[in-house]
Amino acid sequence: RPRALSGIQPTAGSFHLGNYLGAVRQYVALQESHDAFYMVVDLHAITVPQDPAELRANTRLAAAQLLAAGLDPDRCTLFIQSHVPEHAQLGWVMNCLTGFGEASRMTQFKDKSAKQGADRATVGLFTYPILQVADILLYQANEVPVGEDQRQHIELTRDLAERFNGRFGDTFTVPKPYIVKETGKIYDLQDPTIKMSKSASTPKGLINLLDEPKVTAKKVKSAVTDTDTVIRFDPENKAGVSNLLTILSTLSGTSIADLEKSYEGKMYGALKTDLAEVMVDFVTPFRARTQEYLDDPETLDSILAKGAEKARAVAAETLAQTYDRMGFLPAK
Ligand code: ATP
Ligand code: MG
Repeated sequence: RPRALSGIQPTAGSFHLGNYLGAVRQYVALQESHDAFYMVVDLHAITVPQDPAELRANTRLAAAQLLAAGLDPDRCTLFIQSHVPEHAQLGWVMNCLTGFGEASRMTQFKDKSAKQGADRATVGLFTYPILQVADILLYQANEVPVGEDQRQHIELTRDLAERFNGRFGDTFTVPKPYIVKETGKIYDLQDPTIKMSKSASTPKGLINLLDEPKVTAKKVKSAVTDTDTVIRFDPENKAGVSNLLTILSTLSGTSIADLEKSYEGKMYGALKTDLAEVMVDFVTPFRARTQEYLDDPETLDSILAKGAEKARAVAAETLAQTYDRMGFLPAK
């Protein structure tokens, strides 16, 4: 079985619809075909300031949401990044293999540090793509399910794997991004030219999966469209409508072509009403399942403990081999 690996940040409050359609949905699907490792990346979360109590709560909340979305601990390995110390250890090795200029070209850092102001941005935020390289290479992952915004980081991972292998001998599997074309980039409902993100400009543009279903329906109904009236998939000229069609198509399992046909002669309001209904049907059981896991933290923590144990066995082997290849003197 090929290996899959991915990680998601313990975001305050809730995953958003972009996280789910761009990434988590694929995590669930790949459990069936892959030896899959998924983690809540708390080490990545601290690249921006975090309140300790909130970080702890958000980490459990993220794990609960992954389970609620359909991850099955008997079919995949689900764990918390900081439970496996090898991530930080291989991260350092990868830092020492990356050029400063190479790291400086990462557009995610440019975007995020611009938002925060250059003096506030940490060195950790600068090197987080390199920690991500270590995350992936530790598990010898073949495929990495992510959204479009992560493509450049997977490219960096491939470069560093090849660099290490070339210098020290075959050690790492060179991974491929697994990005679903249709849902790799879900757009902000208020500004359909930018990606939906937790750092959205306005809360109305961002669908949080754990919002009150009523709030979600309202956000869908106030989504920005255009002054035309035709319901047609045309991302270039009709970004808002196309985004709504993508979301509806994915959640309902109806093709975009069929949706276009069924909305012939209808107004945008009809599309929004249907999407609001499909969204509410999706988030209502999701919220309930998430709450069930949160209500039973002992079960949740024991799932995560087992996951960390399974993950560590793989990670420790890769790290030991890496240290050996590089010439670190063994401790014994
Ligand atoms: P931030 O904006 O702070 O980076 P985020 O919303 O991207 O936060 P992450 O935890 O960084 O959240 O992302 C988790 C996964 O969700 C990643 O694989 C990422 O590519 C994917 N993802 C995030 N936003 C979108 C989006 N709008 N469309 C599709 N996939 C997305
Ligand atoms: Mg992100």
